[in-house]
Amino acid sequence: MARQYVVSACLAGEPCRYDGGCSPCPAVQRLIRAGQALPVCPETLGGLPTPRVPSEIRGGRVVAKDGTDVTDAFTRGAEEALRLAQENGCTAAILKARAPSCGSGEIYDGTFTGTRVSGEGVFARMAREAGLEIWNEETFTEGK
Ligand code: SF4
Repeated sequence: MARQYVVSACLAGEPCRYDGGCSPCPAVQRLIRAGQALPVCPETLGGLPTPRVPSEIRGGRVVAKDGTDVTDAFTRGAEEALRLAQENGCTAAILKARAPSCGSGEIYDGTFTGTRVSGEGVFARMAREAGLEIWNEETFTEGK
């Protein structure tokens, strides 16, 4: 049976990004059309609105640019996204690079200056710890 992926909904083309936009990725969209990918947006699943104030991870917390601590909403959304992924038999994930929920390998450093540091987003970490194989749209190679 074909492998099942959980994917960032913004890569699928859903306008769920903090700024109301999306980041469509043709490889992810092909997987969706083939019935091999489940789109989720952990931040909207956590109850955050779109558009929303951008957030970054700083000192183990998720903080919005206006100073609001949004760690609880990010955590709730990641838990719900993981539950959906597991319920749908997903064993791998393709998640938006560098985002505070979905980033893997590196994220922004919490200063909102575009500075990258090694780290991972809240959902990416949870999914990795649950045993899913994690890709982003830049590292994923079709046929994996
Ligand atoms: Fe995309 Fe993930 Fe951010 Fe949602 S939480 S907009 S899926 S990067």
